[in-house]
Amino acid sequence: MVTLKSQREIDLMRRAGEIAAEVLQIGGAEVRPGVTTKHINDVMHKFIKSKNAKASFLGYGGFPAVACISVNDEVIHGIPSGRLLTDGDIVSIDVGVLLNGYHSDNAATFPCGTVSPEAQKLIDVTRQSFYEGLKFVRPGYRLGDVGYAISSYAHQHGFSVVRDYIGHGVGTQLHEDPDVPNYGVRGKGLRLQKGMVIAIEPMINAGGFQVQQIHPNGWTVVTKDGSLSAHYENTVAVTDDEPLILTSQS
Ligand code: MG
Repeated sequence: MVTLKSQREIDLMRRAGEIAAEVLQIGGAEVRPGVTTKHINDVMHKFIKSKNAKASFLGYGGFPAVACISVNDEVIHGIPSGRLLTDGDIVSIDVGVLLNGYHSDNAATFPCGTVSPEAQKLIDVTRQSFYEGLKFVRPGYRLGDVGYAISSYAHQHGFSVVRDYIGHGVGTQLHEDPDVPNYGVRGKGLRLQKGMVIAIEPMINAGGFQVQQIHPNGWTVVTKDGSLSAHYENTVAVTDDEPLILTSQS
């Protein structure tokens, strides 16, 4: 069931979202050759605690860390570890924050040192595909319009869209209805209404769209063909007019 949020609830989610946005940038700033993904996670954890907030992902379904940190062909759910980042890696960080009973969720992919032009293009197209979808996040459009805009932009640039993992509603629960696919048919799907809050999170692959979950840690999803994958996400509220990105820094 899709719950519509009041203005008061959206204001609370925005406060969680500001912390989520800030901690994502703090994590991203730690991405450099020679650093472990656990170090990035620990810096982020310290910041969230300093804001008297909680990390939404820690313990969620048994997830053992504050952030998902996914490197290169890892699509999502990378577990921070002693893995050392090296020059040319691309590093997706996904982090959610719980404050005053409401979650906000965001993600981005960061280049480590100097990355290939293809990797940088993948990062840029993934980010822009979110903004292409965002153009349709307003009353009068449907989720199919949002997903179509995301996938057609990615396809225009020669990339593919992950289908097995999608965005979601956000609120008192980290994952709520509705499902928010990064693909769709124009004019189809749930009609957008003021008060809906959704996480739109394109996961875009440089190669084929297929993914697999074969990692021994039981979490991490990788591209089936070993190609690079990038991720970009914000939590967004539907208003009467322009959508409101709740995970933006104040
Ligand atoms: Mg999410």
